[in-house]
Amino acid sequence: MIKVLDASSFIHGYNPSVEEGDHYTTNGIIKEVKTKMDIIHLAIEYGKLRIREPKRETIEKVKKTSIETGDTLSINDIEILALAMDLGGILYTDDYGLQNVAERLSVKVKCIVSEGIKGRFIWKLICKGCKKMYNIDYYDVLCEVCGSPLERKMVKNRLNRKNVK
Ligand SMILES: [Zn+2]
Repeated sequence: MIKVLDASSFIHGYNPSVEEGDHYTTNGIIKEVKTKMDIIHLAIEYGKLRIREPKRETIEKVKKTSIETGDTLSINDIEILALAMDLGGILYTDDYGLQNVAERLSVKVKCIVSEGIKGRFIWKLICKGCKKMYNIDYYDVLCEVCGSPLERKMVKNRLNRKNVK
């Protein structure tokens, strides 16, 4: 499944590293969500997020439609919607104007806030050798079992909500 992420997806806590599917966004969106750089860089590193730019003619089509619907979209909004059209993907956005124009263009839209985020993530240390998991504050840089180096990794928090402090 192709998921195209706008700025509000990241801002509202969507984390491609722990979600299924192929995620795409644009350079403009990445520049916009400076506060989520860690999550974005990690997702790119994991191959869970790819950066693409939409076709010029699709951008023009989106611009034209937004004028027709009367929605004021930023250039980043226009580009991300155009990318969703080019890739035939689902656009993830909480922006009402963007949803409106997307519907007019028959692009499928999902809302992060109403949909809910699948799971909170937490940082863990994972042994590169035997894959044993350690808490992020573990005192050593090497695995106590096999002696391999530990690396930082984002994993889903599988605790029930009632157990989360
Ligand atoms: Zn180990």
